Amino acid sequence: MIKSVPGLLYVVATPIGNLGDISARAREVLATVSRIAAEDTRHTGQLLRSLGIDKPLVSLHDHNERARSEALIAQVIAGESLALVSDAGTPLVADPGYALVRAAQEAGVRVVPIPGACAAVAALSVAGLATDRFCFEGFLPAKSVARRARLDELKGEERTLVFYEAPHRIVEMLGDLLHVFGPRHATVARELTKLHETVYAGTLETLAVRAQQDADMKRGEIVVVVEGGERAAATTSTDLRRLLGALLSELPTSRAVDIAVAATGARRNAVYRLALEMKQTAPEDTADATQRLSDP
Ligand code: SAM
Repeated sequence: MIKSVPGLLYVVATPIGNLGDISARAREVLATVSRIAAEDTRHTGQLLRSLGIDKPLVSLHDHNERARSEALIAQVIAGESLALVSDAGTPLVADPGYALVRAAQEAGVRVVPIPGACAAVAALSVAGLATDRFCFEGFLPAKSVARRARLDELKGEERTLVFYEAPHRIVEMLGDLLHVFGPRHATVARELTKLHETVYAGTLETLAVRAQQDADMKRGEIVVVVEGGERAAATTSTDLRRLLGALLSELPTSRAVDIAVAATGARRNAVYRLALEMKQTAPEDTADATQRLSDP
């Protein structure tokens, strides 16, 4: 049986809807810690009752987290064990907990993750979009002008993008995504793990139209996953490849990348990634030259 250990802070993921998603380890830790810090004590009280657990709860939310963290960590140092939970899913992911975890680290208290549900990861797992690299953006600004400005900054992001959104903003949000990003693929995942779980996949255009017509799509909790932007045209062009190939055969990778970026105006991240790909597939003499020149 897993028992909590005195002097530790546990960061415990709880279900995002379906109670069956609580892990055996989460249950055990919640049942055996000295106390539980919760975003909303009433909400967590219900979860604990359904698990047959009775524990002292202390509230820890965005507005009191800084003030409370020190005292909670002092109790842990004095020999208590503490679990941190949020209303649903993984604490700290668009949820409170950052100040507490940082305070624990600074005080030399070990922080132990008890992993479990996370809406962003659950949505990614069914989105049908690339997951080798993704970028979690959380909630976009609520007002359209600020939202479009943020999306404009994200337009060139090549990784799959993951957003959380409130149901009453989904129509506007999809409209802004379409306006700024154009016709990319996306997935809207709502009410994951719950009775009305629905996953809509398509282009931003079809999803934006559907959100206007389908009342269900505007209900419940929602994650939006959007395909990343295409690599800048310059970074896949034959010219860039040729230039980079020549530079890589004579120079260390980062120097070759710097020169290619300066010469083409392409983004450094993309050129660097391309350089690594090219090195992997390079004929031996190029790879050797790169290796030789990189050595001190
Ligand atoms: N910490 C949580 C996690 O690990 O996913 C997220 C907390 S954040 C305050 C709440 C947002 O997560 C919701 O507004 C929604 O965008 C998303 N979310 C939470 N549960 C969800 C679910 N069952 N289905 C879809 N989205 C969900």
